[in-house]
Order: sequence, then C-alpha cells, then structure tokens
Amino acid sequence: MGSACSCTGLGDALVDRLSKASIYVTPRVIFVGCLSVFSYTWYVYNIVFLGRILLRVNKHDYVHSFFWLFNTLWTLTLWSYLRASFTDPGRLTDEWRSFTVQTQGSADLNVGFRFRQRRFSCGEASSCPRCREVSPERAHHCRECNACILRMDHHCPWIGNCVGFRNHKFFLLLAAYGLAASLVVLVTISPELFGWSDLACSDCLVTIGSFLDDLLLSILGLVTTLLVLFLGFVSSYHWRLVLANCTTIETWYDNANPYTFPDRIANVSQVFGAPGVDWVLPLMPLQPQTDGFSFARRSEVLPSELTSITALSSPGLALNSCFAPDSLSTKYDTKSFWKSTATVSHASIRDLWVFRYSRKVLASPTPCSVCFPGVFGRWGQRK
Ligand SMILES: [Zn+2]
Ligand SMILES: [Zn+2]
Repeated sequence: MGSACSCTGLGDALVDRLSKASIYVTPRVIFVGCLSVFSYTWYVYNIVFLGRILLRVNKHDYVHSFFWLFNTLWTLTLWSYLRASFTDPGRLTDEWRSFTVQTQGSADLNVGFRFRQRRFSCGEASSCPRCREVSPERAHHCRECNACILRMDHHCPWIGNCVGFRNHKFFLLLAAYGLAASLVVLVTISPELFGWSDLACSDCLVTIGSFLDDLLLSILGLVTTLLVLFLGFVSSYHWRLVLANCTTIETWYDNANPYTFPDRIANVSQVFGAPGVDWVLPLMPLQPQTDGFSFARRSEVLPSELTSITALSSPGLALNSCFAPDSLSTKYDTKSFWKSTATVSHASIRDLWVFRYSRKVLASPTPCSVCFPGVFGRWGQRK
C-alpha cells in the first residue's frame, strides 16, 4: 500500500516535472525548428537552385533578379520573425500602476475592481483575477506569459511570444513577407520542380549530385507549398482584423467595436503608426497613434490641450516613449534621442488616461454611442 502510494507520488512528480519542462522546452524546439526552415530555404534556394540547377539548364539570366528578390523578402521575413519573437508585447508599467492606485474609487474615473467581461468596454479598466493587477482597456491576461498583455491579440506558439500592442506590427509583417517569400520560391522553382525545363536540358547528364539537388529542391517545394497555405490563411485572417482595428480575442465579443474607424488606413495606423516608410520595415512605429493604455474611439473629440499629444493632429512625438524599451519609465528622460524630440511630459499622457477613463466621457453620447451592434461591419459582432 505504502509502495503504491509512493509510486503514485513519484508518477505525479514525474508528470508534473515533465509538464513544467514542456513549458520551457516546447517554445525552444519550435523556435529551433523555425530557424531550421529559414536556413534550409536559404541554402537550397541560393546554393542549390540558383548556384547549380539554373546554371545546369542554361538560365543564367534569371539568377541575378531571383537572387535579389528572394533574399530581400527572406531577410525581411527573418527580421520580422526575430522582432516578433523577442519584442516585449507590452506589459503594465509603474506609471499605469500608480495611476490606477491613485484613481481607484474615484467618482469621476472608471478605474475600479470590476472583472473584465467578454465585450468591448471602452474607457473601463478592470481587475485581473490572476495577476491581481488593474489592466487597461483591450488588455488581457496570458496564461503562458503569466501577465496582462496590452491590446493582446493571441499567444503565438510559432514565435514563442504573445502578440500584443508592441509587436503586433512585426507579426503582421512576418505573415505578409513570409507569404511573399514562399510564393516567390514556389513560382520560380516550379519549372525545374515539375520538369518543364527538361527540353532545355535534353543533353544534361544525370549524376548523383544532380539527383540530390533535385531531391533537395522537391523538399523545398513541399515546404514552401505548406508555408503558402498556412501563411495565406494567417495573413488573410489577421490583415482583415487589423483593417477593422480588431484583435483576435475581440472577434468573440457580441457588441460592436467602438475602436473601428471608417477609414481603413486609420485602423491600420493604430498598429503601424502614421503612414510612412516605416510601415514596410520591422521597426517600432515612428509616429505611433496610441500609447497602449488608452485608445482613440470613433467620434472621439479630444480637448484641445490633449490633441497635441496624439498623432491625430501632430507627429505623436510623446507617444514614441510608449514604444521605447523602458516605456514610460524614468530612463525615458535620459535618452538623448527621445529627449531631443519629445515635447510632452509624462503628465500629458496621464491627462489622456484621465480623459479616456472618465465616467463623464462614458456617459457622453458622443464617444460610446457607437457601442451598439450592427454598424461597423462583421468584426466584433459575432454572436
Ligand atoms: Zn493579469
Ligand atoms: Zn502570452
């Protein structure tokens, strides 16, 4: 009896240790697997396909253009992947915590202990039962990250990270560039993959080397076909969401999305910053439109003193601090680059929070009269 109990105890302990180990091992295995796909694709396309196969079938003229097209997209995909994986998705800051501590219970502000509901709750901060923090609108608790993530979209096992306010742009670029690179590979290798070039190479010798090259190319064709299908689905789903300024979690809400703007560029700008050359690069937005803790709503009318700190009417310099590594921390003031461009103090962002979490704003028909179903398209209205 005693031995049975100890065996059960040992078994439970083993299962417990294995499950804990899997939490740490699985993301690393997936990460190494993804880097292996990157490496394999690069090697086979550049060395085997461009370096040997195309030369063998006398297609020298294509090598240069294929090389630059593929490697540009491949580099942007890898760059986006690393940024999405290693960028903090956005967590609560001391500035936000002090704001909530000082304003909880305030008659004028909607910052309290109410638990989050599965619906759009613009201008309402809520308590997280797991980490016991007060989280801002659009934030959600992630069990894998064990933290509340700002404007959380979902936890992605492929990047081993949450997709949230600070790395959502990198995730979207990863899907888009990955799809483009896979399509380029698939289209350009197709003639050789399916033997359409046999006529051009009627006098080529079949050697062990060329057989291995063909085998490697066939595996590349299979891998990129799977990538095109997978990334095609991911891209179409997530780009449609960002065009409506909606997150994956928010698609399950049953009331209309108060953050959706009629202009799709304005919706994309909420994630990518104001339109500019930085849209196509995996860099933090140069002109961010939001700070991650409060979000512009359709028909929102900001007081004149607050419009200067949003990118809606200015370059949004103050909001740059929210994308800096130590967002809203004291280090912000020590960085000469930000210091030279920032024109608004932390207190201004705090004023913006006070305005957007104000019960008066909630009671006003202007900003939240749009929070009813059936107006802004399908997203956010799933029943
Ligand atoms: Zn939490
Ligand atoms: Zn997470």
